[in-house]
Amino acid sequence: MKFETAAIHSEKNFSTETGSVIPPIFATSTFSYGNKENFDYTRSGNPNFRNLESTLSALENAKYTTVFSSGVSAITALCSTLKQGDTILAEENLYGCTIRLFRDVLSHFGIEIEYIDFSNPQNYSRIASLKPAFVLLESPTNPLLKLIDIQEVSRHAKKAGCITVVDNTFSSSFLQKPLDLGADISLVSTTKYSNGHSDALGGAVSTNDSTWHKKMVFAQKSLGLAPSPFDCFLISRGLKTLALRMERHSSNSLRIAEFLESHPKIEWVKHPFLESFPQKDLAKKQMKGGSGIVVAKLSGNISSEKAKEFLQSLQYFCLAESLGGVESLACHPFTMTHGSVSTEQKYSVGLTESVIRLSVGIEHIDDLLQDLSLGLQSL
Ligand SMILES: *Cc1c(COP(=O)(O)O)cnc(C)c1O
Repeated sequence: MKFETAAIHSEKNFSTETGSVIPPIFATSTFSYGNKENFDYTRSGNPNFRNLESTLSALENAKYTTVFSSGVSAITALCSTLKQGDTILAEENLYGCTIRLFRDVLSHFGIEIEYIDFSNPQNYSRIASLKPAFVLLESPTNPLLKLIDIQEVSRHAKKAGCITVVDNTFSSSFLQKPLDLGADISLVSTTKYSNGHSDALGGAVSTNDSTWHKKMVFAQKSLGLAPSPFDCFLISRGLKTLALRMERHSSNSLRIAEFLESHPKIEWVKHPFLESFPQKDLAKKQMKGGSGIVVAKLSGNISSEKAKEFLQSLQYFCLAESLGGVESLACHPFTMTHGSVSTEQKYSVGLTESVIRLSVGIEHIDDLLQDLSLGLQSL
Protein backbone atom coordinates (compact mmCIF):
# COMPACT_ATOMS: atom_id res chain seq x y z
CA MET A 1 0.00 0.00 0.00
CA LYS A 2 1.18 3.47 -0.81
CA PHE A 3 0.89 6.20 1.82
CA GLU A 4 -2.30 7.68 0.41
CA THR A 5 -3.93 4.25 0.32
CA ALA A 6 -2.67 3.21 3.77
CA ALA A 7 -4.10 6.37 5.32
CA ILE A 8 -7.49 5.20 4.19
CA HIS A 9 -7.31 1.39 4.42
CA SER A 10 -5.31 0.58 7.58
CA GLU A 11 -8.11 1.01 10.06
CA LYS A 12 -9.61 -2.12 11.56
CA ASN A 13 -13.23 -2.42 12.53
CA PHE A 14 -12.92 -3.63 16.14
CA SER A 15 -16.62 -4.02 16.71
CA THR A 16 -16.79 -7.83 16.71
CA GLU A 17 -13.26 -8.85 17.63
CA THR A 18 -12.72 -6.90 20.85
CA GLY A 19 -15.62 -7.91 23.04
CA SER A 20 -16.20 -4.23 23.70
CA VAL A 21 -19.00 -4.15 26.30
CA ILE A 22 -20.57 -0.99 24.90
CA PRO A 23 -21.23 -0.90 21.15
CA PRO A 24 -19.00 1.55 19.30
CA ILE A 25 -20.25 4.59 17.43
CA PHE A 26 -20.65 3.67 13.77
CA ALA A 27 -19.63 7.04 12.40
CA THR A 28 -20.01 6.07 8.78
CA SER A 29 -22.20 7.45 6.04
CA THR A 30 -22.15 4.30 3.93
CA PHE A 31 -21.62 0.50 4.11
CA SER A 32 -19.92 -1.94 1.75
CA TYR A 33 -22.38 -3.65 -0.58
CA GLY A 34 -23.72 -7.08 0.44
CA ASN A 35 -22.92 -6.93 4.20
CA LYS A 36 -24.68 -9.45 6.45
CA GLU A 37 -26.96 -6.92 8.14
CA ASN A 38 -27.99 -5.30 4.88
CA PHE A 39 -26.90 -1.80 5.81
CA ASP A 40 -26.44 0.44 2.77
CA TYR A 41 -26.41 4.15 3.64
CA THR A 42 -26.78 5.77 7.06
CA ARG A 43 -29.80 7.89 6.08
CA SER A 44 -31.68 4.60 5.75
CA GLY A 45 -30.16 2.80 8.71
CA ASN A 46 -27.11 2.50 10.96
CA PRO A 47 -26.20 0.06 13.78
CA ASN A 48 -26.52 2.89 16.34
CA PHE A 49 -30.09 3.57 15.16
CA ARG A 50 -30.89 -0.13 15.55
CA ASN A 51 -29.36 -0.28 19.03
CA LEU A 52 -31.45 2.66 20.18
CA GLU A 53 -34.59 1.41 18.42
CA SER A 54 -34.45 -1.99 20.07
CA THR A 55 -33.95 -0.44 23.53
CA LEU A 56 -36.82 2.01 23.04
CA SER A 57 -39.11 -0.79 21.79
CA ALA A 58 -38.37 -2.73 24.97
CA LEU A 59 -39.04 0.33 27.15
CA GLU A 60 -42.29 1.30 25.40
CA ASN A 61 -43.54 -2.34 25.19
CA ALA A 62 -43.61 -1.93 21.41
CA LYS A 63 -42.83 -4.29 18.56
CA TYR A 64 -41.25 -1.52 16.49
CA THR A 65 -39.49 1.82 17.00
CA THR A 66 -38.08 4.23 14.44
CA VAL A 67 -35.67 6.95 15.52
CA PHE A 68 -35.46 10.48 14.12
CA SER A 69 -33.24 13.52 14.48
CA SER A 70 -35.57 15.31 16.94
CA GLY A 71 -39.04 15.13 18.46
CA VAL A 72 -40.27 17.57 15.82
CA SER A 73 -38.86 15.26 13.08
CA ALA A 74 -40.83 12.38 14.59
CA ILE A 75 -44.01 14.50 14.40
CA THR A 76 -43.08 15.54 10.84
CA ALA A 77 -42.65 11.85 9.92
CA LEU A 78 -46.13 11.04 11.22
CA CYS A 79 -47.70 14.01 9.44
CA SER A 80 -45.92 13.11 6.17
CA THR A 81 -48.30 10.15 5.89
CA LEU A 82 -51.28 12.52 5.52
CA LYS A 83 -52.77 13.88 2.31
CA GLN A 84 -54.72 16.97 1.30
CA GLY A 85 -58.11 17.08 3.00
CA ASP A 86 -57.06 14.93 5.96
CA THR A 87 -57.76 16.22 9.46
CA ILE A 88 -55.87 15.90 12.73
CA LEU A 89 -57.94 16.08 15.89
CA ALA A 90 -55.58 17.39 18.56
CA GLU A 91 -55.70 18.19 22.25
CA GLU A 92 -55.90 21.98 22.61
CA ASN A 93 -52.93 22.21 24.96
CA LEU A 94 -50.02 20.95 22.83
CA TYR A 95 -46.29 21.61 22.68
CA GLY A 96 -45.78 25.05 21.07
CA CYS A 97 -43.59 23.86 18.17
CA THR A 98 -46.16 21.20 17.25
CA ILE A 99 -48.81 23.92 17.01
CA ARG A 100 -46.45 26.03 14.88
CA LEU A 101 -45.76 23.08 12.54
CA PHE A 102 -49.50 22.58 12.04
CA ARG A 103 -50.27 26.29 11.63
CA ASP A 104 -47.36 27.46 9.48
CA VAL A 105 -46.49 24.34 7.45
CA LEU A 106 -49.15 21.60 7.29
CA SER A 107 -52.01 24.04 6.70
CA HIS A 108 -50.31 25.05 3.42
CA PHE A 109 -50.63 21.46 2.25
CA GLY A 110 -54.37 21.33 2.81
CA ILE A 111 -54.23 19.41 6.09
CA GLU A 112 -56.74 20.60 8.66
CA ILE A 113 -56.29 20.70 12.41
CA GLU A 114 -59.04 20.86 14.97
CA TYR A 115 -58.28 21.41 18.65
CA ILE A 116 -60.51 20.20 21.47
CA ASP A 117 -60.24 19.74 25.23
CA PHE A 118 -59.65 16.01 25.65
CA SER A 119 -59.83 16.23 29.43
CA ASN A 120 -63.60 16.68 29.03
CA PRO A 121 -65.18 13.27 28.18
CA GLN A 122 -68.14 15.05 26.54
CA ASN A 123 -65.79 15.96 23.71
CA TYR A 124 -64.86 12.34 22.91
CA SER A 125 -67.85 12.12 20.55
CA ARG A 126 -66.07 14.57 18.22
CA ILE A 127 -63.77 11.68 17.20
CA ALA A 128 -66.62 9.68 15.66
CA SER A 129 -68.26 12.72 14.02
CA LEU A 130 -65.02 14.06 12.49
CA LYS A 131 -63.26 10.76 11.73
CA PRO A 132 -59.79 12.37 11.73
CA ALA A 133 -56.70 10.72 10.21
CA PHE A 134 -55.43 10.61 13.76
CA VAL A 135 -56.04 11.85 17.24
CA LEU A 136 -53.01 13.52 18.82
CA LEU A 137 -52.60 14.20 22.50
CA GLU A 138 -50.01 14.82 25.19
CA SER A 139 -50.43 13.79 28.80
CA PRO A 140 -49.50 15.55 30.99
CA THR A 141 -49.84 18.59 28.73
CA ASN A 142 -47.24 21.31 28.43
CA PRO A 143 -47.10 23.58 30.34
CA LEU A 144 -50.34 23.25 32.32
CA LEU A 145 -50.05 19.57 33.30
CA LYS A 146 -53.57 18.65 32.31
CA LEU A 147 -54.00 14.87 32.16
CA ILE A 148 -55.86 13.06 29.39
CA ASP A 149 -57.31 9.59 29.96
CA ILE A 150 -55.30 7.72 27.32
CA GLN A 151 -57.24 4.49 27.75
CA GLU A 152 -60.63 6.17 27.26
CA VAL A 153 -59.59 8.35 24.30
CA SER A 154 -57.95 5.34 22.60
CA ARG A 155 -61.08 3.24 23.14
CA HIS A 156 -63.31 5.89 21.55
CA ALA A 157 -60.88 6.36 18.66
CA LYS A 158 -60.68 2.61 18.03
CA LYS A 159 -64.48 2.36 17.97
CA ALA A 160 -64.53 5.13 15.35
CA GLY A 161 -61.77 3.46 13.32
CA CYS A 162 -59.21 6.20 14.10
CA ILE A 163 -55.72 5.84 15.44
CA THR A 164 -54.45 7.51 18.58
CA VAL A 165 -51.02 9.10 18.82
CA VAL A 166 -49.65 9.99 22.25
CA ASP A 167 -46.71 12.35 22.67
CA ASN A 168 -45.16 10.64 25.71
CA THR A 169 -42.27 13.09 26.17
CA PHE A 170 -43.36 14.61 29.50
CA SER A 171 -43.94 11.28 31.25
CA SER A 172 -41.11 9.29 29.69
CA SER A 173 -41.26 5.62 28.73
CA PHE A 174 -40.56 4.66 32.34
CA LEU A 175 -43.55 6.38 33.93
CA GLN A 176 -46.21 5.83 31.27
CA LYS A 177 -46.77 3.27 28.50
CA PRO A 178 -49.27 4.60 25.96
CA LEU A 179 -49.36 1.39 23.87
CA ASP A 180 -50.32 -0.67 26.95
CA LEU A 181 -53.13 1.84 27.53
CA GLY A 182 -54.50 1.25 24.02
CA ALA A 183 -52.82 3.97 21.93
CA ASP A 184 -51.60 2.95 18.48
CA ILE A 185 -48.51 5.14 18.43
CA SER A 186 -46.28 6.49 21.18
CA LEU A 187 -43.99 9.34 20.21
CA VAL A 188 -41.19 10.76 22.33
CA SER A 189 -38.75 13.59 22.03
CA THR A 190 -35.73 11.59 23.23
CA THR A 191 -34.01 14.98 23.68
CA LYS A 192 -35.71 15.21 27.07
CA TYR A 193 -35.90 12.46 29.72
CA SER A 194 -34.79 9.56 27.47
CA ASN A 195 -31.38 11.10 26.94
CA GLY A 196 -31.53 13.04 30.18
CA HIS A 197 -28.26 14.93 29.88
CA SER A 198 -29.20 17.88 27.64
CA ASP A 199 -26.46 17.07 25.13
CA ALA A 200 -28.28 15.54 22.14
CA LEU A 201 -31.48 15.88 20.09
CA GLY A 202 -33.64 12.96 19.06
CA GLY A 203 -37.15 11.65 18.54
CA ALA A 204 -38.79 8.25 18.21
CA VAL A 205 -42.05 6.65 17.11
CA SER A 206 -43.03 3.30 18.69
CA THR A 207 -45.91 1.07 17.55
CA ASN A 208 -47.13 -2.53 17.37
CA ASP A 209 -48.59 -1.94 13.90
CA SER A 210 -46.33 -3.17 11.09
CA THR A 211 -48.00 -0.88 8.52
CA TRP A 212 -47.20 2.21 10.59
CA HIS A 213 -43.72 0.90 11.19
CA LYS A 214 -43.12 0.63 7.43
CA LYS A 215 -44.39 4.18 6.97
CA MET A 216 -41.97 5.44 9.62
CA VAL A 217 -38.97 3.61 8.16
CA PHE A 218 -39.88 5.13 4.79
CA ALA A 219 -40.13 8.63 6.35
CA GLN A 220 -36.78 8.19 8.13
CA LYS A 221 -34.90 7.67 4.88
CA SER A 222 -37.02 9.57 2.38
CA LEU A 223 -37.56 12.83 4.23
CA GLY A 224 -34.05 13.21 5.57
CA LEU A 225 -35.20 12.91 9.18
CA ALA A 226 -32.51 10.46 10.29
CA PRO A 227 -30.53 11.18 13.48
CA SER A 228 -26.75 11.06 13.78
CA PRO A 229 -25.11 7.81 15.00
CA PHE A 230 -23.34 9.85 17.68
CA ASP A 231 -26.60 11.25 19.09
CA CYS A 232 -28.11 7.74 19.05
CA PHE A 233 -25.11 6.52 21.03
CA LEU A 234 -25.61 9.28 23.62
CA ILE A 235 -29.35 8.61 23.92
CA SER A 236 -28.70 4.85 24.25
CA ARG A 237 -26.30 5.65 27.06
CA GLY A 238 -28.82 7.96 28.73
CA LEU A 239 -31.56 5.32 28.63
CA LYS A 240 -29.52 2.99 30.82
CA THR A 241 -30.24 5.24 33.82
CA LEU A 242 -33.77 6.34 32.86
CA ALA A 243 -35.48 4.40 35.67
CA LEU A 244 -33.16 5.74 38.38
CA ARG A 245 -33.41 9.27 37.08
CA MET A 246 -37.21 9.24 36.78
CA GLU A 247 -37.59 8.00 40.35
CA ARG A 248 -35.46 10.89 41.58
CA HIS A 249 -37.08 13.46 39.28
CA SER A 250 -40.49 12.35 40.56
CA SER A 251 -39.62 12.41 44.27
CA ASN A 252 -37.71 15.72 44.06
CA SER A 253 -40.49 17.42 42.10
CA LEU A 254 -43.18 16.25 44.51
CA ARG A 255 -41.25 17.62 47.49
CA ILE A 256 -40.82 20.95 45.69
CA ALA A 257 -44.50 21.07 44.73
CA GLU A 258 -45.49 20.50 48.38
CA PHE A 259 -43.07 23.21 49.53
CA LEU A 260 -44.35 25.74 46.99
CA GLU A 261 -47.97 24.94 47.80
CA SER A 262 -47.44 25.99 51.42
CA HIS A 263 -45.58 29.19 50.44
CA PRO A 264 -47.46 32.52 50.72
CA LYS A 265 -45.87 33.93 47.57
CA ILE A 266 -47.32 31.13 45.44
CA GLU A 267 -50.95 31.24 44.28
CA TRP A 268 -51.28 27.69 42.96
CA VAL A 269 -49.11 24.69 42.15
CA LYS A 270 -49.61 21.79 39.76
CA HIS A 271 -47.99 18.38 39.97
CA PRO A 272 -49.80 15.15 39.01
CA PHE A 273 -49.09 13.41 42.33
CA LEU A 274 -49.90 16.36 44.62
CA GLU A 275 -52.80 15.59 47.01
CA SER A 276 -54.60 18.73 45.79
CA PHE A 277 -54.26 17.83 42.09
CA PRO A 278 -57.78 17.44 40.70
CA GLN A 279 -56.82 14.53 38.42
CA LYS A 280 -54.59 12.66 40.85
CA ASP A 281 -56.64 9.43 40.49
CA LEU A 282 -56.06 9.46 36.74
CA ALA A 283 -52.37 10.21 37.37
CA LYS A 284 -52.11 7.13 39.58
CA LYS A 285 -54.04 5.03 37.04
CA GLN A 286 -51.78 5.76 34.09
CA MET A 287 -48.47 7.05 35.50
CA LYS A 288 -45.93 5.40 37.78
CA GLY A 289 -44.73 8.77 39.15
CA GLY A 290 -45.22 12.48 38.65
CA SER A 291 -42.16 13.16 36.45
CA GLY A 292 -40.00 16.23 37.09
CA ILE A 293 -42.23 19.10 36.04
CA VAL A 294 -43.78 21.52 38.51
CA VAL A 295 -45.90 24.43 37.32
CA ALA A 296 -46.79 27.28 39.66
CA LYS A 297 -48.35 30.71 39.60
CA LEU A 298 -46.65 33.47 41.56
CA SER A 299 -49.01 35.47 43.83
CA GLY A 300 -49.96 39.03 42.99
CA ASN A 301 -49.66 40.96 39.79
CA ILE A 302 -46.28 39.74 38.61
CA SER A 303 -45.03 40.92 35.22
CA SER A 304 -43.05 38.73 32.82
CA GLU A 305 -39.89 40.71 33.67
CA LYS A 306 -40.36 40.24 37.43
CA ALA A 307 -41.09 36.53 37.04
CA LYS A 308 -37.99 36.02 34.92
CA GLU A 309 -35.89 38.10 37.33
CA PHE A 310 -36.95 35.73 40.12
CA LEU A 311 -36.07 32.66 38.05
CA GLN A 312 -32.70 34.15 37.11
CA SER A 313 -31.91 34.81 40.76
CA LEU A 314 -31.93 31.05 41.46
CA GLN A 315 -28.59 29.34 41.84
CA TYR A 316 -29.34 25.79 40.70
CA PHE A 317 -32.27 26.34 38.33
CA CYS A 318 -30.94 27.67 35.04
CA LEU A 319 -33.41 29.84 33.09
CA ALA A 320 -33.62 27.91 29.83
CA GLU A 321 -36.06 26.16 27.52
CA SER A 322 -36.22 22.36 27.45
CA LEU A 323 -36.62 19.90 30.28
CA GLY A 324 -35.77 16.40 31.38
CA GLY A 325 -32.05 16.78 32.05
CA VAL A 326 -30.24 15.81 35.26
CA GLU A 327 -29.81 19.53 35.99
CA SER A 328 -32.71 21.68 37.17
CA LEU A 329 -34.08 24.24 34.72
CA ALA A 330 -36.63 27.00 35.09
CA CYS A 331 -38.75 28.41 32.31
CA HIS A 332 -41.17 31.29 31.78
CA PRO A 333 -43.62 29.62 29.35
CA PHE A 334 -45.51 32.83 28.47
CA THR A 335 -42.46 34.43 26.81
CA MET A 336 -40.30 31.36 26.14
CA THR A 337 -41.73 27.96 25.09
CA HIS A 338 -45.12 29.49 24.23
CA GLY A 339 -43.85 32.85 22.97
CA SER A 340 -45.19 32.17 19.47
CA VAL A 341 -48.70 31.32 20.71
CA SER A 342 -51.19 34.22 20.70
CA THR A 343 -51.90 35.97 24.01
CA GLU A 344 -55.66 35.19 23.78
CA GLN A 345 -54.93 31.50 23.28
CA LYS A 346 -52.55 31.53 26.26
CA TYR A 347 -55.02 33.37 28.51
CA SER A 348 -57.80 30.99 27.47
CA VAL A 349 -55.91 28.03 28.93
CA GLY A 350 -54.75 29.89 32.06
CA LEU A 351 -51.21 30.58 30.90
CA THR A 352 -50.46 34.07 32.20
CA GLU A 353 -47.31 36.16 32.80
CA SER A 354 -46.92 34.94 36.40
CA VAL A 355 -46.86 31.21 35.59
CA ILE A 356 -43.47 29.51 35.98
CA ARG A 357 -42.39 26.00 35.03
CA LEU A 358 -39.64 24.10 36.81
CA SER A 359 -37.93 21.06 35.33
CA VAL A 360 -36.68 19.60 38.59
CA GLY A 361 -33.36 17.79 38.23
CA ILE A 362 -31.76 15.06 40.31
CA GLU A 363 -29.63 17.28 42.57
CA HIS A 364 -29.99 16.91 46.38
CA ILE A 365 -33.47 18.01 47.41
CA ASP A 366 -32.19 20.15 50.33
CA ASP A 367 -30.13 22.34 48.00
CA LEU A 368 -33.05 22.81 45.61
CA LEU A 369 -35.48 23.68 48.42
CA GLN A 370 -33.06 26.19 49.92
CA ASP A 371 -32.48 27.78 46.53
CA LEU A 372 -36.22 28.31 45.95
CA SER A 373 -36.77 29.47 49.52
CA LEU A 374 -34.08 32.17 49.25
CA GLY A 375 -35.29 33.24 45.82
CA LEU A 376 -38.89 33.61 46.98
CA GLN A 377 -37.79 35.63 50.04
CA SER A 378 -36.45 38.38 47.81
CA LEU A 379 -39.32 38.28 45.30
C1 LIG B 1 -39.47 19.05 23.24
C2 LIG B 1 -40.76 18.46 22.86
C3 LIG B 1 -41.03 18.10 21.54
C4 LIG B 1 -40.06 18.36 20.42
O1 LIG B 1 -38.88 17.68 20.57
P1 LIG B 1 -37.47 18.21 19.94
O2 LIG B 1 -36.58 17.08 20.24
O3 LIG B 1 -37.14 19.47 20.65
O4 LIG B 1 -37.71 18.44 18.48
C5 LIG B 1 -42.24 17.52 21.26
N1 LIG B 1 -43.17 17.32 22.22
C6 LIG B 1 -42.96 17.66 23.50
C7 LIG B 1 -44.01 17.41 24.51
C8 LIG B 1 -41.76 18.24 23.87
O5 LIG B 1 -41.54 18.60 25.15
